[in-house]
Amino acid sequence: MLTSYSKILETAVNEIAKLPGIGRRTALRLALHLVNAETVEVETLAHALTELKSSLKICKYCFAISDHDVCEICANPKRNPNIICVVQDIRDMIAVENTNQYSGVYHVLGGVISPVDGIGPGQLKLQELFHRIENHPVEEVILALPSTAEGDTTNFYIYKHCAEKAPKISLLARGVGVGEELEYINEVTLGRSLITRISFESQYGSVL
Ligand SMILES: [Zn+2]
Repeated sequence: MLTSYSKILETAVNEIAKLPGIGRRTALRLALHLVNAETVEVETLAHALTELKSSLKICKYCFAISDHDVCEICANPKRNPNIICVVQDIRDMIAVENTNQYSGVYHVLGGVISPVDGIGPGQLKLQELFHRIENHPVEEVILALPSTAEGDTTNFYIYKHCAEKAPKISLLARGVGVGEELEYINEVTLGRSLITRISFESQYGSVL
C-alpha cells in the first residue's frame, strides 16, 4: 500500500487507478496533485466527471455521445445528412472529424462483429444503420472501420444489407495499413485515405 496511513487518500488513489492506463504510482501522483490544487479546480473536475454520467446523452440518429438528444454534427445544417460515415466507436469518429476533410454525418456502431469476443451483429447499431439507409435519402455510405479481419467481416455484413439501398458504398483507401486502428493514424494520412476513398466493389469485386 502506498498510502495506508490515510484512508481518504487511499480511496482516491484506488479509484483513479481503476482508469485505463493508470497504475497506482501515477494515481498517487494525480491524487497528491489534487490535494495541492485550488478547491475550485478540484470541484470543477469533480463536476465535469459527474456530468459525464448524469447529463451526457446518446444522439438518437448517429449514436455518438452528445450534450443533447441530437448531436452537434447531426443538427448542423452545413453537414450533408445524405453521406454517412460508419465508424466503430467515438474515438474513430473524433479521428475522422479531426482531419477536417469530412462534411457528412456519422453512424457509430459500438464495435465490430467479432465472434471470438462474442460480439454478433445484434449487439451493434447495425439495424439502426439499415433503418437509416432505408428511410432517408442516402447518397453514400463510407465504411471507416478498422482494417482487421473483424472490420472486414463487418464491412461485408453492411454491404450485403445495403448494396441495393445505398447508391454508393465506399471504403477508406488503404493508406490505412492493415490492422491499424484509425485512432492511431495521423490526421494527414487519415484525411488522405478519406479523400481518395474507393468503392467497395473495386476493392472486393473478385469475392462478391
Ligand atoms: Zn448525431
